[in-house]
Amino acid sequence: MLGGIWYNGTQSSSWAHDEAVMQATSQAQTDNAARVREVEREVERLKLLNQALWELLRARLNVTDADLEKVIRDVDLRDGVEDGRMTTTALKCPTCGRVSSSRHWKCLYCGQQFEKPIAG
Ligand SMILES: [Zn+2]
Repeated sequence: MLGGIWYNGTQSSSWAHDEAVMQATSQAQTDNAARVREVEREVERLKLLNQALWELLRARLNVTDADLEKVIRDVDLRDGVEDGRMTTTALKCPTCGRVSSSRHWKCLYCGQQFEKPIAG
């Protein structure tokens, strides 16, 4: 008899737990979808800002799309991979041994210029 009560109580608790997990999962999915929409809006806003800045600079500084493409390639290659993305890589300085970011392409501690990708 007691065994039956214990079993039913446990099963009921298990169902309540499953329901809580399903509600939490559903809420997390809703939160993630909202976050994705927010990030998409931000990316679109940044694309607009980037385009406007480029058109302003091109007109004011008399530079060309080819000039921009060359700089894009140079910056892209700073992380050692031409992949259309600016990935930040940890670079170990061969001079002082400390770690800097590939974003700066030089050692933040001793000023050593990095000429090629250095595994860090
Ligand atoms: Zn250094």
